Amino acid sequence: MRIAQRFRSFRDWCVERFGENLHRVALDAGSQCPNRDGSKGFGGCHYCDVDGSGTGALREGRDLAAQLRDGLARVARRKHSGRAIAYLQSYSNTYVPAERLEEVLAVLAPHAGREIAAVSIATRPDTLPESALDVLERWNARAPVWIELGLESASDKVLLDINRLHTLAEFHDAVRRVKRRGLLCVAHAILGLPGDGREGAHRTALELAKSGVDGVKAHQLMVLERTVLAHRWRQGAVSTLELADYAAWLADFVERLAPEQVLHRLHGDAPSGLLAPQWSRINPGVREALEAELERRGTRQGAFHGS
Ligand code: SF4
Repeated sequence: MRIAQRFRSFRDWCVERFGENLHRVALDAGSQCPNRDGSKGFGGCHYCDVDGSGTGALREGRDLAAQLRDGLARVARRKHSGRAIAYLQSYSNTYVPAERLEEVLAVLAPHAGREIAAVSIATRPDTLPESALDVLERWNARAPVWIELGLESASDKVLLDINRLHTLAEFHDAVRRVKRRGLLCVAHAILGLPGDGREGAHRTALELAKSGVDGVKAHQLMVLERTVLAHRWRQGAVSTLELADYAAWLADFVERLAPEQVLHRLHGDAPSGLLAPQWSRINPGVREALEAELERRGTRQGAFHGS
């Protein structure tokens, strides 16, 4: 961490680890979600839209190879070297047979170690079989693989109320199994979930620090069209955070992470169908607001680690 910097940013970590900043190429491999097809539950998490928190590219008719080609070309136009992270984002990408995971990775294989500097796989903590980890461990020799696990909140009650249908214990177990394979592990957290509150954000950060995940993606609660949350929001039963409040909660959160954990994201970008909060639509300056808040407090990432 640079002296002046009060948290460990993804950009700095990329430069340390890969010698340059990397851009994500978000991919939709046509995976499904056990929380939508009935094997865990129906209807999905209350904040998740029908595209599984992803791009919806496959449904629009763009196959994985075309998505990858277009994404890599976009990165190459923006950056000198054009190296990217292939990010399997939509739905639960280890909720497929190992052979299907191999097929998906085979599309990426010609680019691994070249334009693709790393592969990132989004999934659920309770949907990570050893057979998938076998495949990903082998792949890690070609290009670093990291697993992105949604925790969202450390409260089992909040997780149940938003229909996530996994527990904190399952999250800790998944992290242990990922780390045992020598893979990197990144966790997602949402600040402002119904019933979680500021104290909930504190607890989530402390659990993430305890888990030993390598990185964290923090998001503000967003209300999207075509979600259960949208219905509750329209009834006035759910509210979202103003930008200033989010920056303050995020500062609390960052203070409770471990100093070495990398902040892969500080906020969510507005996908299509955003209803609230409206500040998610623009580049809201969360990074600057977080820096300013930590500076005002005279603290930094990890200041209350273990408290
Ligand atoms: S587990 Fe992921 S893909 Fe499935 S409903 Fe929840 S957020 Fe959406």
